Amino acid sequence: MNSGSCDAQAVYLDYNATAPMRPEVLQATYEALQAVGNASSIHNHGRDAASRVDRARQQVADLLNCSRGELIFTSGATEANNLALQAAYATRGLMITSAVEHPAVLETARALAADTPDSLVILPVDGEGQIHHDALRAAIERRGVGLVSIMLANNETGVITNLDPIVEAAHAAGALVHTDATQYVGRLPLDLGDLGVDLLSLSAHKFGGPQGVGALYIRRGTPLPQRPLVFGGGHERGWRAGTLNVPGIVGLGAAADAARREVDADAPRITKLRDLLEGEILARLPGSYVNGARSTRLPGVASVTFPGSPADALLASMPDVAASDGSACSAGAPTPSHVLLALGLSRQDADSTIRFSLGYATTEQEIRRAVDATVRAVTHVQAVMGVPGRP
Ligand code: PMP
Repeated sequence: MNSGSCDAQAVYLDYNATAPMRPEVLQATYEALQAVGNASSIHNHGRDAASRVDRARQQVADLLNCSRGELIFTSGATEANNLALQAAYATRGLMITSAVEHPAVLETARALAADTPDSLVILPVDGEGQIHHDALRAAIERRGVGLVSIMLANNETGVITNLDPIVEAAHAAGALVHTDATQYVGRLPLDLGDLGVDLLSLSAHKFGGPQGVGALYIRRGTPLPQRPLVFGGGHERGWRAGTLNVPGIVGLGAAADAARREVDADAPRITKLRDLLEGEILARLPGSYVNGARSTRLPGVASVTFPGSPADALLASMPDVAASDGSACSAGAPTPSHVLLALGLSRQDADSTIRFSLGYATTEQEIRRAVDATVRAVTHVQAVMGVPGRP
């Protein structure tokens, strides 16, 4: 695959941080960049820009099985999450979320509830990364729950949440349900007619679109007060002011279109490659283990712990593989991954975990190269660290 200009030889296995842009997205974005026109202008240039935006909105709606009018374009999933949580919290009070959410949900929830900590419940997960349903039910039964925000798939482990019982319990209690589907959209088929959530966030750059563009889905009729984060000219039906990012939105639409056509074939192919990667690593490196392995997971995610081998040392020893230690968003932070700690890993094991994330352009040859590089790196680091039982 084209892994960019920084290191064309490295195997790119960091799709959960960002996926390479699909060729058809590059083409569509480039064409949109060449065109002039503000989607709000009434002359032909403006109408042309507006029709590109309309088409992209339809492409995203087709991917999700919703209608165009239910989508608000944003700068990405961080903004979509902030928009959803802020609007719901403003009038609906108590909020429930989980310990393994992305910081774009967890920190937003904490900030909104800073003055009233009792208005936020953060649910634990089990060792496989799944929400405790009893704890969820107990929390929902508290009077006045306004919003339940639980991610559809985790960015670090790929663990997928079964939202059905959550939606059912939340709706029975009169609460809205938001899901951060950033890692799920475009990776597995998704039908909003079945999912039943009221609000959903997505981001283009996780499935082959450009960075800096995403969307918030608001189900028609959802009793959500309009609480924009950005005020101005009333774009996006008043939800998000500012001149539309036409090339970005066009790129998001093109990525949605490609994902819709290819996801059915890609998902099983990528699952097979991920299973090959995990199987080879576990067989050749006894003692290593996969996080969330017994849960239903996204096709392309492998979170592997190599006890005794710090992930930063491992990654430095395998420059031919672009992977991640925990999530890219927390990478560089001195604290271990909150997701892995929530699954019950020790600090040391959390710090000895690599997330490999595969995607639409990953090949078997790349996986075999990555496995060899990982085995070499772990053997080297364990030798240097003097891990017992290792040379
Ligand atoms: N939620 C999840 C689960 C993510 O993985 C990410 C990206 N790391 C985000 C939200 C933030 O998305 P964006 O980069 O579009 O702001």
